[in-house]
Amino acid sequence: MAALGAGLASGVASPRIDLHAHSTASDGTDSPAGLVTVAAAAGVDVLAITDHDTTGGWAEAAAALPGRMSLVRGAEFSCISPTGRDDRDVAVHLLGYLFDPDHAAIVHEQARLRAERVERLRKMIEKMAADGYPVDVETVFALLPSGASAGRPHLARALVAAGVVGSVNEAFATMLYNGSPYYVPKTDTPVRAAIDMVRAAGGVAVFAHPLARKRGRVVEPSVIAELAAAGLAGVEVDHPDHSAEDRDLLRGLAADAGLVATGSSDYHGSNKTTPIAAESTSEAAFGELFSAATGAEVLTG
Ligand code: AMP
Ligand code: FE
Ligand code: FE
Ligand code: ZN
Repeated sequence: MAALGAGLASGVASPRIDLHAHSTASDGTDSPAGLVTVAAAAGVDVLAITDHDTTGGWAEAAAALPGRMSLVRGAEFSCISPTGRDDRDVAVHLLGYLFDPDHAAIVHEQARLRAERVERLRKMIEKMAADGYPVDVETVFALLPSGASAGRPHLARALVAAGVVGSVNEAFATMLYNGSPYYVPKTDTPVRAAIDMVRAAGGVAVFAHPLARKRGRVVEPSVIAELAAAGLAGVEVDHPDHSAEDRDLLRGLAADAGLVATGSSDYHGSNKTTPIAAESTSEAAFGELFSAATGAEVLTG
């Protein structure tokens, strides 16, 4: 199969490119193979698998790749960043694509974060149990394949199963939001260190949903421009959690800072209502973003 730019299967007119999706390797509900199957059925031509703090789903997703699809292997790194307006750091997500998954710094940092995720979720469960909610550590962790990246959505599902709330969304709105009495933080990676790590491993870094305001505080646009100068390659513009106004702002900022503008669904299976390919990235952006990556290849099935 001929490769165009960074490995897009040739001959596809107006390819559908979705560069952000989760599997059961983190907080999605489709297995990595199932994720690829769902994407193929939805007409996706290029899919990126981007689980939180793990590359654990890469092999299974690659093995399930059908003939006409391409797979970008990536991960979503849990980070902290200065806000650009005060001295309280804010949690941000960084998408790393096509990095060498055996790069020592990444292996080490992802393992550290996954271990923290387990401990932190355990503490959140214990706080709820202490207040009389019918959740326990065993039940929540039974929802996780071994080695998977534990997250609040796993606890949310347990709360739904126990009848405490009616939906994952309600669990976040009432009990799991940042700053809730049950919320326990984890120690995330400084975003500049994460960008450096991804680049050192031959990959490309993209700022995920920088203006997803419903999740809490967000960075000032000036921070995104500063990160562009520090090696950031792109910014997620079209994302379900971005307003039309913020998309316009980010598109302008990307053009000014020389960042590639991407669009992605951030699909999480039934943990969120957004379908796969709800947002997409242009073929031009795809080519520009990945042509210089050296840590891993875009796979074609
Ligand atoms: P954690 O990684 O444990 O801090 O949990 C954050 C994850 O929770 C995000 O990556 C989202 O996938 C998910 N999340 C955040 N808000 C919501 C929501 N309102 N409904 C469903 N999932 C959410
Ligand atoms: Fe998530
Ligand atoms: Fe995210
Ligand atoms: Zn995500």
